[in-house]
Amino acid sequence: MTRTTCPYCGVGCGVVAESGGVKGDAEHPANFGKLCVKGAALAETIGLEDRLLAPRIEGRAASWREATALVASEFARVAAEHGPDAVAFYVSGQLLTEDYYVVNKLAKGFLGTANVDTNSRLCMASSVAGHKRAFGADVVPGNYEDLEEADLVVLVGSNAAWCHPVLYQRIAAAKANRPSMRIVVIDPRRTDTCALADLHLALRPGSDAVLFNGLLTHLAAKAFDADFVARATSGSDEALAAASLTLEKTAEICGLAPGSVTLFFDWFAKTTKTVTLYSQGINQSTSGVDKVNSILNCHLLTGRIGRPGMGPFSLTGQPNAMGGREVGGLANQLAAHMEIENPAHRDKLARFWNAPRVAQRPGLKAVDLFEALHDGRVKAVWIMATNPLVSLPDSNRAREALAACPFVVVSDCVSNNDTLRYADVALPATGWGEKDGTVTNSERRISRQRRFLPAPGEARDDWRIVADVAKAMGFRGFDFAHAAAVFREHAALSGFENDSERAFDISGLADLTDAEYDALMPTQWPIKRGQTAQARLFGDGAFFTPDRRARFVPVTPRPPKGATTCERPLTLNTGRVRDHWHTLTRTGRSARLSAHVFEPYVEIHPEDARRAQVAEGGLARLTSAQGEMIARVRLAPQQRRGCVFAPMHWSDENAAKARVNALVAPNVDPISGQPESKQTPVTVAAFAAGWVALAFSRERMAAPPADYWVSGRARPGWRLEIAGVEAPQDWENFARRTLGSEGDWIAYRDPASGAHRFARLIEGRLEACLYVARDHVAASHQWLADLFAKPALDTADRMALLAGRPREARADDGPLVCTCFGVGRNRIVATVAAGAATVEEVGALTSAGTNCGSCKAEIGNLIASRRLVTA
Ligand code: SF4
Repeated sequence: MTRTTCPYCGVGCGVVAESGGVKGDAEHPANFGKLCVKGAALAETIGLEDRLLAPRIEGRAASWREATALVASEFARVAAEHGPDAVAFYVSGQLLTEDYYVVNKLAKGFLGTANVDTNSRLCMASSVAGHKRAFGADVVPGNYEDLEEADLVVLVGSNAAWCHPVLYQRIAAAKANRPSMRIVVIDPRRTDTCALADLHLALRPGSDAVLFNGLLTHLAAKAFDADFVARATSGSDEALAAASLTLEKTAEICGLAPGSVTLFFDWFAKTTKTVTLYSQGINQSTSGVDKVNSILNCHLLTGRIGRPGMGPFSLTGQPNAMGGREVGGLANQLAAHMEIENPAHRDKLARFWNAPRVAQRPGLKAVDLFEALHDGRVKAVWIMATNPLVSLPDSNRAREALAACPFVVVSDCVSNNDTLRYADVALPATGWGEKDGTVTNSERRISRQRRFLPAPGEARDDWRIVADVAKAMGFRGFDFAHAAAVFREHAALSGFENDSERAFDISGLADLTDAEYDALMPTQWPIKRGQTAQARLFGDGAFFTPDRRARFVPVTPRPPKGATTCERPLTLNTGRVRDHWHTLTRTGRSARLSAHVFEPYVEIHPEDARRAQVAEGGLARLTSAQGEMIARVRLAPQQRRGCVFAPMHWSDENAAKARVNALVAPNVDPISGQPESKQTPVTVAAFAAGWVALAFSRERMAAPPADYWVSGRARPGWRLEIAGVEAPQDWENFARRTLGSEGDWIAYRDPASGAHRFARLIEGRLEACLYVARDHVAASHQWLADLFAKPALDTADRMALLAGRPREARADDGPLVCTCFGVGRNRIVATVAAGAATVEEVGALTSAGTNCGSCKAEIGNLIASRRLVTA
């Protein structure tokens, strides 16, 4: 049995890995034994299929010696010939802190460039900058217990029910125990998170800073903490002058009913124990930093910070976004919360590392970095543990950038992704379960990720890969024997000449032995030498600015960069789905996780759909100034008029034209450099499919020659959804190309109706099948999966297979809702129709929602919509 940490979201749940699979760690203070559906399915994602197992140079196998020498010599050559800023590193919140630390040490201490940026730039850079402006340090003041102790929890731009499910369930459980606790959700979209809300403010996209400016004005009259403001802050007058806004005007600009705004303002003013939890809806904006500060201003004015049950709370998206910030993983930071523009900090770092070339100025932030690759300023780049050609805005231009770069190194644990296609050198890295190190979650809690599997093939830990390249370049200071040695140095640096100047101080962990590091229990920072960990900061009114006062920041709200027009009348919002993670390289390995949302989709209000002439279940083409995608249409009355939503997960590896970031403009916040991923003007139009098809196979199928396809795991192996405008000339040829040709074929063709059905069998066992129709394939997936489970098909099965329907009528469960117990929407709706009135009653009758609980919010919303229909 090994105690480790989930590698997905910033909740940072403890996981126990044992031979039978994984379960939640009952002793971990982030989750107390709970896991969401992604965490619970971790064991299904760690197979060796599609793993990169040996180094590759220009596509051929190479030894580590050769690959390391090539990377070292090319980076050294480019830096010598073109200057250190001609090389760059693009890393990831998936890396462990130890990996991050060694990359930063090499770049910022020895190569002399700060061109190290991370995909966390896309996730929480605005919060980092907002924290720095207000507190003088990048600190989340509170912890998860505050969310349970609060009397009012305000969730802003956060679909926690899907993106941080265990934390959401902690809030839900607290509210169930204490119904007087209030929840306000501020989001243009009615997400599943709203199942818990006493009040949902579906504000106009991008108007968050207006709402919080209005709130600040209201609080000045109703909940002003004069003592705290005078004692511990500066700049309140300027912030209030900039905010000055009546409630009515606030409501008007935000597109909200004045009564709803009054209710929210009153609740906030009267509730001392208030936590404001915010996430990507705030951060991913060209005015994200100001939005963050507009929230922080409200907590400073009321003195509600750093005490139990109150405070602003930035929720990070990735498992180690916070750890990356600790070691200076962003291009405008140095390690251990030191500042790149501060000569004293550069001097400290140079002396501590004995480093010859500490970077003197900030490096290129993510979007700028890829622009520098595009125009040739950066000539060598090393990308680690991330897939930027899917996740960066304007991802088609990012492709051009990598294609233009003379030397591209990619280290990853997978053998194929969109980014690896451009790698001159591909380096195999260990993955979750195979590597040792630490991660820091959203509440500043450092937890161990522990190895419980051997490294496959020749895969190596990222920190070691980088350290070997550093040594091959002739640099000293990279002789780490173990991740523990890296951690000790990182912890010692955090306390080096710190004297409480910098918030991040874990010098209390600098002397851990290897055994103590192995046994390290989850702990929050700061944890100074000789002291215990600090659960909350700023409750004493002391901050990390030069005068130790928190700073109010005057906020003048700005509209999003890209405005909708007649030509592009809809605003595209992007985000995650409940059961998938990032670009599907891991959760995409699980058929169970893939079943909840199989295809890219666009959620659109029925009225907007009517205007765009798109229909539920049909396909739509979304077009922006940057690019286009094709997605399945979902009519969503809960969607704000004029707004559409599409998830971010699909790539060219598993779909055609499904990268939502191909549409997103590379507009960024001027301070944080974080892109505006939630407000892209688009047009939505019907994709006029002349035919559609569905295929299942035991083996992965080839990408078909079609305008639209999506491939993913499913029972019995793989599923392919396909559509096209022009029908292929020869359907049999199409079928063989897609399904393979070995074995016996049975086929049904009806050119007049456009129906074609093919099945491939080996010794009577179904291997693959393809159903083609003009507009809709009616075959039940569940029934087909059952046919694949049979050792051989009898004559009646074969006839039913070609007829496209089972021999006997059977109920179809519909789209999956509960992934743990395989309960579909139709069964839940029928259960509700039969009288089940609560999530618990549905659970008792169907088991749905009774394991990990990730689907409880969705079940709650199904019950609520049923109530609406019958009311
Ligand atoms: Fe992992 Fe889910 Fe916990 Fe996030 S909430 S850390 S995805 S188990």
